[in-house]
This record gives sequence, structure tokens and C-alpha cells, in this order.
Amino acid sequence: MELKDLKGLGPKTLTKFNNYGINNLNDLILLEPKKYISYNLNKEIKFDLGLYYVTEINIAKVTKMKNSSVMIIFIAKLFNKKYRFIIFGKEYLVYMLNKYKELYLYARYELEKNYFNVNKIFNNKPNEIKVIYNFKDINDSLITKLIKEAFPYFKAPNERLPQDIVSKYKLLTYDKYLILKHFPNNDDDLKQIYRRQIYEKFFWRSFFYALLKIRNNKSKEKKEFSLIKINEFINKLPFKLTIDQEKVINIILEELQSEKRINRLVEGDVGSGKTIVALIASLATMLSDNKVVMLAPTIILATQHYNLAKKYLNDVYLLTSNIKEKEKKTIIQEINSEKPLLLIATHSILYSDINITNLGLIIIDEQQRFGVIQRSYLQKKYPKCDTLYFTATPIPRSLAMTCYGGLDLSEIKTKPEGRKEVKTKLITDSQIPKLKDFLKEHLAKGEQVFIVCSQIKDEENDLWDLDKASLEFGDLGYEMAKISGKLKDKEKVEIMNKFKNKEINILIATTVIEVGIDIKDATILVLLDATRYGLATIHQLRGRVGRGDKKSYFFLVSKSLNNERLKILETINDGFTLAEYDLKYRGPGEFLSHMQSGFIDNDLTELEKKIYKYANDDAKMFAIEVANSNSDDKYNKILEEISTKDYENN
Ligand code: ADP
Ligand code: MG
Repeated sequence: MELKDLKGLGPKTLTKFNNYGINNLNDLILLEPKKYISYNLNKEIKFDLGLYYVTEINIAKVTKMKNSSVMIIFIAKLFNKKYRFIIFGKEYLVYMLNKYKELYLYARYELEKNYFNVNKIFNNKPNEIKVIYNFKDINDSLITKLIKEAFPYFKAPNERLPQDIVSKYKLLTYDKYLILKHFPNNDDDLKQIYRRQIYEKFFWRSFFYALLKIRNNKSKEKKEFSLIKINEFINKLPFKLTIDQEKVINIILEELQSEKRINRLVEGDVGSGKTIVALIASLATMLSDNKVVMLAPTIILATQHYNLAKKYLNDVYLLTSNIKEKEKKTIIQEINSEKPLLLIATHSILYSDINITNLGLIIIDEQQRFGVIQRSYLQKKYPKCDTLYFTATPIPRSLAMTCYGGLDLSEIKTKPEGRKEVKTKLITDSQIPKLKDFLKEHLAKGEQVFIVCSQIKDEENDLWDLDKASLEFGDLGYEMAKISGKLKDKEKVEIMNKFKNKEINILIATTVIEVGIDIKDATILVLLDATRYGLATIHQLRGRVGRGDKKSYFFLVSKSLNNERLKILETINDGFTLAEYDLKYRGPGEFLSHMQSGFIDNDLTELEKKIYKYANDDAKMFAIEVANSNSDDKYNKILEEISTKDYENN
């Protein structure tokens, strides 16, 4: 049975699936749902979308709006009180409102406007959980249907967790999990799915760290280089290094010269100047006649690093998926030669069969975006090599020790001189017109603006997506472009270059612009639907502005100002302090999971904490067992399987 044999899958749709890397039944069934919508009946008014049961429905008004779509206003009784409900753009629902006196509404309460914005209507209580796969051009229900059809032909892979662990915690078995995640019936199923997911995530992460640590205990060859040359390089820099930059550099230089294999995580807030530290480590390694590979999570960032590195160092090469074949060949020749060089690349080269001669140092930038899996893979492939990780998502030291077990830790806390704080402000959607005036003022001065939405396309029509944002901000009278992970890499780089050259003034983007982008005249970032993001991500995004000497602004736009968690961003500007706060307020779950799941349930943080502790202990034991049995190769497959394939998809 092949994918093309499934009923309801014509050649056109097949191509679409192929485009997403789904080529056979296995790929289809192993697909991870992006989120679940639970139509659980609300027992009180909540601010998120939720299901409500209403009675005594009376249509008050049906109005044609300017853009010729229709707005239906009706009054109905909810929890013994009358409320106003509004449906936008779905005139055909008038029929249902007239026919039924009681309905189930999937709606969001808009506090400031005092009405419910209705998204969906049901005449019977929908008891199903809706599974969302979130492909732009493939319908969710089609996917569900195809998976149902494919299941009988699917041979479930073996359980990948140790059997005794599955039984001990009564986790869903792997085969059961694979079915249930596509066909959950109720909230309890969701919890079971979540429990297995979160356990596995923590377990494998800890497992691979523990394994890394065991592997790392082997020593390496000392690197020899001239410290005088390094100092010359530092003295020629256009700025003076900060104290913390100097400290970290000294440690790294010392470790490069020792037999100890470096496995160091350098934490530094956005803009703290991590790149130059990486370049100095590269220089030292190259002076010792070794090669360096620097990995960046996105093509945009890799290209940016390349352009910068070229200014400071000789023999720098860029290898990304959009490099032409011919050029690639030349680069590969260089890589296979003895010559020391710095290769800047995206993760795609990780899994290629390229072998790098004399690799002395691997640098992984913005490591929070790289799975431990990928790291572990490199470690295995180049056992003699030093590794440095850089992250702009500070994690409190106490937590870092547990979650990055195998790594040494350095912090860059001092900021380069003259850095201005980014002014952060919480506003509501209704203040957007005023915000637009503000944007105009600054655009007129040649400044540039990022507008970030959480969705490329929002089928539910409830959140800001690229189109909706373009429509809203399109009338400012400046050049605008949209950018998201769905674009081809070449297109992304082109757009970013145009933005850098000011041919584009406003960039409507998803979080692809999250990491590392350094554009001096971009002074304003507007984050729409700000409640959708974790604090760490928001802080990362904030770092996209405030990179030059102009005053910069960060606007967090949401439906209500009433948000403790977001408010804190107005006062705390420092990533380390923020991380401490978040740890206290949210527990370690936020950092450890980074899960973009649809589960918004406050109890789960406690649950996550608990699961993490057990998973971590179990994994360490298991790693020792595996290392002793010398069968750790077996796990590279799992490693690839669970690696976060889609981290670049936004
Ligand atoms: P990040 O830590 O976020 O990766 P970057 O390395 O991109 O930060 O540095 C941000 C900017 O600060 C760059 O333009 C860089 O040249 C500059 N910079 C780095 N170190 C210093 C310093 N010690 N003094 C002044 N500017 C610096
Ligand atoms: Mg950086």
C-alpha cells in the first residue's frame, strides 16, 4: 500500500503531501498534529476562544459592512444573563440563528467591547476534539480521513522507550499513542497524549545529554596557536571588548590549548556580543591548523554571520541549501583539503555525507533552536572536536545545570557600552490606529518596522495572520513585504537583503526573524497576539530592535491589557532577570518544553515539573546502561526520528 493508493488522494494532493516531506504511509501516520481544539463546554466566561451554550436567541441586526461582508448581531441568554454576540462575514448563519432557540457557540469574549465574537455555531453539542495539522493547503479533515484509511496497512514501529518505564508510569504504549494522537475523543485522551509526549521529550533530551557527557570524557589533542596574533586581532577591533566577553574568550582559549574537550554553553542576552567571541575562538582554531564549522539555525542568520565573519577573517565559506551546485563543489573540495578555514552553514549539512577533514571546533549559534539530537550527532561524528554553544535565551544557572547536564556554562552579562534599552509597551488591538500614527512618524525618519504575527494563515480567522496584518498596515504608505518560513530560502534571503538596504521599510513576518537578525535602523517591532508567545521568545524578538544608536520600541499587542505575564516585560529588560522571573512564575516547564501545543491548562505546569524530574532521573540511568552496552549507535535513529524537523517552518 502506498500513499497514492489511498482513496481521496489525487495526484495534485499527493504533490502537496510530498512537498511537506510526506512520501509514504509511515510519514503520514508519524505526522505530529500541531494542536488540538477542545470543544469543552465553558462553565464561566473566559477570555480565550471557548464553547458556550446559549438560549433565547434573538437576531438584533444584520448589517452590510464597507467591504461588503456581513455582520450579524444577536442577543442570547448565557449563564442567566443576556449578552451581545457578533458574527462577522458568515451571512448564511442567519438561517441557523432563526431556526434554533438554543445553540452551542464557539466564541471569544471581547472584554473591552463587551460582546462575544462568534467563530463557529453548532446546533448539537460537539463532543469531538478537533485535530489541527495546520498545513496551508491541505485540509485537516482530509488528513484525518487518509490516516484512518492508512492505519490498517501500517506496521507500528517498536516501542522506543524502555518497556519498564512505559509500564511503571502507565504511559500510552507507542502504538496506542500513534493512533490516539490522531483520533482523541476527549480531554482525558489529550492528557494521556500529552503525558507521553512530554515524558518522551524530557527523557530523550536528558538521555542524550547524559550520553554526551559520557562520550565527552575522552580527551582531545591540544591546539597550539600564537596568542600574540589573537591579541593583535582583538586590538584591531572597532570596539573594546566587555569584561564578560574577555572572560569568556580567555576561558575558551585556555581550553582550546588543553586536552579537555570543550563543551561549553555561552549564555548572553541578545546584543551582548556573542558573535565576536565565536569569531575569536574560530581564529584561534584556524591558527592551530584546524577547521571550524559554525552552524546557524536559519539561512538568514548563516548569511548574516558569513558577511560579518568575512570582514574579520580570511578563508570563510558559506554552505547552505541554496548555494549553487558548482559553488558547492568548490567548497567541498576546500573542506576535504588540509587547509584551515571557517565554514558557516545551516543544519542541512549535518545530515549530509560531507566529511570535514581536521575539524577542530564546532560552533552552534542560537542553540535553543537546535535539538540536542543534532548536537549529539555531530559529537559522534567528530569525536576529537571541541564544541561551543551560544544561546540568547538565558536560563537561570540552577536550571541550566539540570537541563544542560553535560555542558559547562559561561555567562555574558555585561552589555557593550552605549546600548539603549528598548522601550516596551503593552497595547490592545483597539489602539492600533494610534500605533499606526506613531509608526508613520518614525518611518518618515527613515526608521524601519517589524510586524510579527503568530500565524502564516489563520483558518479560524481569529488571530492575526500575514494577510490580515498586511491589510491593516498596508495603508501606511511605505514599502512592505511579507516573510515566513514557507518562502523559499532564496526568497527569504532576498527579502532580508532588501530590508537591510531599506528598499523595504516594513516587514510583516512570522518568528523567522526571531534569532540573531542585526539591522540597525529597525527601531520598532510590533508583536501581534502577544499572549501566544512564551516570555523567552518575546524577549528574543525584542532583541531584533535596539541594535543601533536610535531609540527603539517594542509593542506587545493583545486583546486585553490585563496580563500579568506580559506586563513584566515593560519593566524587566534584562534576559537573565526575566528568566529568573519566569522560572518563579511559570516553573521550569516553559523552558524545558518549548512546546507549541494547544494545551492551555494551568495544572500542567505542575505536572510537567513532576514528569521532568522522573524522566531526567530515568534517562541518566538508562544512558549509563546504554553506554556500557556499547549499543548507543542504535539510538541515532531515534535521535533523527524525534529531532524537531519542523523548527524552521514558521
Ligand atoms: P548577540 O550576542 O545577540 O549575538 P552580536 O554578536 O550580534 O550580539 O552583537 C551585536 C552588536 O554589537 C554587533 O553589531 C557587534 O558588532 C556589536 N558589539 C559586540 N561586542 C561589542 C563591544 N564590546 N562593544 C561595542 N559593540 C559590540
Ligand atoms: Mg547572535
